[in-house]
Order: sequence, then structure tokens, then C-alpha cells
Amino acid sequence: MHDVRPVLLLDVDGPLNPYAAKPKRRPAGYTTHRMRPEGWDDPRLRPLRVWLNPGHGPALLALPYDLVWATTWRHDANTWIAPRLGLPRLPVIDWGEPHSAARDDGVHWKTRHLVEWAAGRVFAWVDDEIGEADRAFMAAHHPGPALLHRVDPRVGLLPDDFAVLADWPREAGGAG
Ligand SMILES: [Mg+2]
Repeated sequence: MHDVRPVLLLDVDGPLNPYAAKPKRRPAGYTTHRMRPEGWDDPRLRPLRVWLNPGHGPALLALPYDLVWATTWRHDANTWIAPRLGLPRLPVIDWGEPHSAARDDGVHWKTRHLVEWAAGRVFAWVDDEIGEADRAFMAAHHPGPALLHRVDPRVGLLPDDFAVLADWPREAGGAG
């Protein structure tokens, strides 16, 4: 049905940086980084603490998808996150002002952007803030297959998540 690979739309905080884990209990396999992305360059601010798992880069690259950043880090994901995971520079979805599309109907502000950006292309979206309203919106407005895969921000991406992502393109009947 599709002769191009599906896209993996990748959030940073939650799936790659399990920010909601207990502060003193860094999840196993992660290393601690101090970062100053855009908005954190004021020396009076403490650098942002980010936990990353260096195994995630190779695991993501092994998946049958084209990887795309779908994060408020925007281009900073290529500067600060990708090199520490062993990822190449990836395309970035530029949201403009992130919360400008927020509404009260429970649909995440990213969701409408993603429908528009995908333009019917098969994709999986990995994010810690996906809810039922997003699934309903996607089903109603995105014409192709889409996997909305929520990751728990207390633990980040786990082997089971990678297994689901690896299998999905075949199950969806798309490329892969
Ligand atoms: Mg997130």
C-alpha cells in the first residue's frame, strides 16, 4: 500500500528522558546530563537535568522507520540529545509557538500539527502525553494508519515498547 517507510515521531521528555522518575532514583541504564538548550542559557538558571539511555539510539535506528523529532526541544534535540544517543541529525517538526494550538477539548496541541505534517503518511507517534482524545482525533482526521504509543514518563522507553514499534508496520499493512 505504501512504498515508503513509516515515520517514527519521537518525543524527548518522557520517552527518552524519564523525567517523572523519583529525583534520587535514576532508572537503570540511564546516565545524567546537564544541558542548556534554548531558554536555559541564563547562567542564573541551573542547567536542565536530563537522563538518557545510550542504548536507545541504536535501538531506535534498528526500527523500520524514518525517525523525526516531535518535541518541544525542536532543533535543540539535534544539538543536545542526538549526539548523546548516537543518533544522526534528524528532521525536526517545528511547531512555531508550542502551545498556540491548545484547546479545551482534551486534544494535545501536538496532535493537530502531526495530522497536518503527516499528510496521510503512515506514522507511529511516541509520547508520554497521548490520551484518548488524541486517538479519537487521529482516527477522525488522519486517513492512513497511525500508532499512538504512550510511554510512561516514570520509566521511559522499555524493551516492550521497542517490540511493539518493531511489529506495528507489518500489522498495520504498511511498509516495513
Ligand atoms: Mg513528553
